[in-house]
Amino acid sequence: MNTSHNLSGTLQEFDLGNGKQGQFYSLPALEKAGLGPVSKLPVSIRLVLESILRNCDGKKVSEQSVRELANWKPNETRTAEIPFVVARIVLQDFTGVPLLVDLAAMRSAVAKLGKNPKIIEPLVPVDLVVDHSVQVDFAGRADSMAKNLDLEFTRNRERYQFLKWGMQAFDTFKVVPPGIGIVHQVNLEYLAKGVLSSPSSDSQLPSAIFYPDTLVGTDSHTTMINGIGIVGWGVGGIEAEAGMLGQPVYFLTPDVVGVHLTGALTEGVTATDLALTVTQLLRKTKVVGKFVEFFGPGAAALPVVDRATIANMAPEYGATMGFFPIDAECVNYLRATGRSEEHCRLYENYYKAQGLWGIPQKGQIEYSQLVELDLATVKPSVAGPKRPQDRIELPDMHREFFNAVQRPVTENGFGKSRQVFGKSVKVETAAKTKASIGTGSVVIAAITSCTNTSNPSVMLAAGLLAKKAVEKGLKVNPAVKASLAPGSRVVTGYLKKTGLTPYLNKLRFNTVCYGCTTCIGNSGPLDPAIEEAIVKNDFVTASVLSGNRNFEARVHQNVKSNFLMSPPLVVAFALAGRVDIDLSCEPLGKDKAGAPVYLADLWPSLQEVRDAMQSALKPEVFRKLYKNFAAQNPKWNEIPSSVGNVYEWDKKSTYIQEPPFFTNFSMKPDSIKPINGARALGIFGDSVTTDHISPAGAIKKSSPAGKFLLENGVTAEDFNSYGSRRGNDRVMTRGTFANVRIKNLMLGGEEGGNTIGPDGAKTSIYDASIAYQAKGTPLIVIAGQEYGTGSSRDWAAKGTNLLGVKAVVAQSFERIHRSNLVGMGVLPLQFKDGTTAQSLKLDGSETYDIVGLDANIKPQQDLTLKITRKDSAVENVSVRCRIDTPIEIDYYQHGGILPFVLRQLVAKA
Ligand code: SF4
Repeated sequence: MNTSHNLSGTLQEFDLGNGKQGQFYSLPALEKAGLGPVSKLPVSIRLVLESILRNCDGKKVSEQSVRELANWKPNETRTAEIPFVVARIVLQDFTGVPLLVDLAAMRSAVAKLGKNPKIIEPLVPVDLVVDHSVQVDFAGRADSMAKNLDLEFTRNRERYQFLKWGMQAFDTFKVVPPGIGIVHQVNLEYLAKGVLSSPSSDSQLPSAIFYPDTLVGTDSHTTMINGIGIVGWGVGGIEAEAGMLGQPVYFLTPDVVGVHLTGALTEGVTATDLALTVTQLLRKTKVVGKFVEFFGPGAAALPVVDRATIANMAPEYGATMGFFPIDAECVNYLRATGRSEEHCRLYENYYKAQGLWGIPQKGQIEYSQLVELDLATVKPSVAGPKRPQDRIELPDMHREFFNAVQRPVTENGFGKSRQVFGKSVKVETAAKTKASIGTGSVVIAAITSCTNTSNPSVMLAAGLLAKKAVEKGLKVNPAVKASLAPGSRVVTGYLKKTGLTPYLNKLRFNTVCYGCTTCIGNSGPLDPAIEEAIVKNDFVTASVLSGNRNFEARVHQNVKSNFLMSPPLVVAFALAGRVDIDLSCEPLGKDKAGAPVYLADLWPSLQEVRDAMQSALKPEVFRKLYKNFAAQNPKWNEIPSSVGNVYEWDKKSTYIQEPPFFTNFSMKPDSIKPINGARALGIFGDSVTTDHISPAGAIKKSSPAGKFLLENGVTAEDFNSYGSRRGNDRVMTRGTFANVRIKNLMLGGEEGGNTIGPDGAKTSIYDASIAYQAKGTPLIVIAGQEYGTGSSRDWAAKGTNLLGVKAVVAQSFERIHRSNLVGMGVLPLQFKDGTTAQSLKLDGSETYDIVGLDANIKPQQDLTLKITRKDSAVENVSVRCRIDTPIEIDYYQHGGILPFVLRQLVAKA
C-alpha cells in the first residue's frame, strides 16, 4: 500500500479507459510545479523519477532526491545516489534458492532472539522462475525432454521441497515451477504488467494509485524487460533481498547514452546480428555503469521482440540498462501476448497521461553522449571465441578462428601451432555412428537462451532453414550434440503450428526442455568417445549457441571455443560441422543429387519469416499456456513440502544448509578497523569473471567441493552442478576460486584453483584459506581490470567473505560484483591508473596493511595499501576505496546488507 502524499500537487487523476478514474503521481505536474525540466529528461530517468516521487516519505526517500533527479543534467560529476524503490522482484532458481536460504536464516535468527519470525517478509511481490537447473543429459531423441525433466526432478528434489516451503511460509513469494520457461521470457510474456496499482492508504482518496512496472532481478539479463519500456536490471541476490525487505536499491545517478537508430535491417540479417553489433559498438563506447536509451525512427520501427533481444545483452555491452521507451509497439505486444483489453487501454492511458508515450526523435532529449547506428549497415555476424563483444562478420569466421587458435592465450587466443589444423581422429559414438573430430569441429549446437528464444522471428528462421536443409537431404554432422531449449511453451506451439517441428527433430534439434541449458553451462556430457578424443588430442573444438555469453569453460569444460549466433546460424554450423568455414562461399553439404548446398540456398527470406510469424503471437495461446501452469505440472505437485514459518534445517542435507552469516548475531555492529598483516590468497590478471570466482558448471571429483560431497556420501554421478548447490555454503565456499581455468599469478599463471599456503607449499585456495584462518591471518585478493564481470553471482561475494578475504584490490570492478562485495562486508579497493600487481612486482610473498580504514571512512576515499616485502622493504600505494555511497558505508560497518537490514527490522519489532 502506498503512503499517499501530494508533493507539489503531483497526485492527480487519469482516465482508466473503463469509465473510471485512477490516481497517479504526475510527472508533467512535477514539471509544472517548477521542480525541474522533466519532459526533457531521458525516458528511463523519468520512470525512475516517478518511483522517487511516489515513494517520497522524507525518510527513506527525501524531497531532495526528487529535486536532484528532476534536474538531472546530461553531463556532470555524479555524486548523488538514487534510492530506487522497485515495484517487484524477479528471481531464477540458482540465485533464488540461496536468497530464500538467507531469508529462512534471518527468520531463524529472529526466532532465536525471541521475536516474531514473520517480521521477515517480502514487502513487494517476488516471482521465482525455476529455469536454471535442467541439464541436457539427453539430446537428439524424441524422449529427450521427458528424460531430462525426470533427471531434473530427481537431482533437485531437496531444493524444490525447500522452494515449496518458501511458497507457504511467505505471503508474497510465488514460484513458476520447472518445465514452463526461462525467467526473462516468462517475465516478458506473462509476469510483466507494464502498469501496476496499489490501494491508497488515504481513505479520502477515491481509488487505487497506478505506477510503472519496475523491477530488479537476480540475473544479469533482467534487462531484457527494458525492451518493453520497463525499467529493471540485475542486482546481486544480496541487494535483491534488501529490496524485498523494503530497502531501496541505491545506485549512483547514471549518465544516459542515447543510441540513435535509423534505417532498417536488410534481407538475411537477424535481430541477433543486430544485438551482437550493438554489443560490440557499445563496448567500444564504454557504457559501463550507464543507462543506454535507444531512440529514433529505427528504434520505433523495431518490434518489441527485437528490442528485447538487444536489451537482453546489456550486461554484455556493460550498461546498467539497454532501454527502449514506451510506444504503440509495446501495447501491441501486450495485447498479442494475452493481456486483457481493459489492461491494455489502462496501460496506454497511463503513459499518455505521464507524457511518456512514443519513442523520442532526435533533438527531443539531450543525452550524456550520442551514438549513431544505421540498421542497414548491420551484417550477419557471430561473436567469439571467448567474449561476446568480439564480433566477427560471417565471411571472416574461418580466418578469425584460424588466427584465434594461433594467437597467444594472453591475447584471447589458444596458443597453438598451425599444425593442429592438419590433425583429426575418427571416433565411434555411443549411438554407433562414426564421426571425425579435429580442431574446428562443432561438437555442441544449441538453440538456447531467452536472448533469442523469446524472438519468434529468429526461432522461425531456424525452423525454416531446417526445413529447407531436410528437403535437400542434408544431415547434421554426427559429432554435434544438437539441442533446442525454448524459453516457453509458446515457442513449441508456433513451431508446431507452422509445421516446422518435424524438420528440426530430423536434424536432432529435438526440444530438450524449457530452461536455460547451454546458456548457463548446463550443456550436459558429450559423447564419451568424442570427449576423450578432444582431451587426448587437445583439440580446440567449438560450440555454436544462440546464447549471450561464451567465456572459457562456461559452455563445457572441454570445449574451448564458443561462438554466439542467431538460431538459424546455429542450425547452419551444425550442418557444416565445423567453424573454420566461410559460409558465404563454401557449401554446407551436398544435396540428394550430390550438388553442393550453400547457406544462401537455405536462408529464409524476410517474407517467409513474416508469413510464419502470423501464427506466432496469438493471445489465446499465451492465455491458455500461462493459466494454471502449476496445476499442469504433476511432477511439481508430487513434491512434498514442509510447513511452518521457520524452516527446520536438515543438518545432513547437501543442498540446503543454514549459512553462518548470523552466527553469534548481536544487535550492535563491530566498528570499522584497519586490516593488518594480511596475506594474498590469489593474484589474478584481467577479466576474472564471476564464473572464475564462483563456478556455475560441473563439480570436479578432485576439487575441494567434490571431495566434500564424496565424504558426505554423494556419488560423483549425483554431484549436480555448483549452481544447484548454492543453498549449501559448505559446497560453495569450497567452490570459490576453484574454476579449472582461473590463473593464479602467484603460481606463474598456472590454471586451476590453487595458491601458496602459509607453509609456502602449493595447495588449493580453499585449504590455504582454512590454514590462514586457523592462524587468524586476514586475506586479500589482488586482481586486474574488470574484476567480477559475468553473471550476477552473489556467491562470488559470499564465498569470498567465507574464505576469510577482507579486501579485494583490483584495477577495476564490474558494477554488481563490486556492490555485492560491499554487501557481504568485503572491502573493494581500486588501484590508481597505471598501478598493477605487475608494476608493483607482487608475487604473493608480501604482507599487506590497509591504512586509514576507520569509523570515519567516506565513500570513494583514498586509503593506503602498505606492502611489506619478504626482505622487509616497505612500499606505500594509494588506493581508492570503492565503497561508493553513504548507505554502503552503513552496510560495510554492519558486516554487510543482511545484518544491517536484520538489525533494523528487529529494532522496529
Ligand atoms: S537463458 Fe541465459 S540469459 Fe536467459 S535467464 Fe537463462 S542463463 Fe540467463
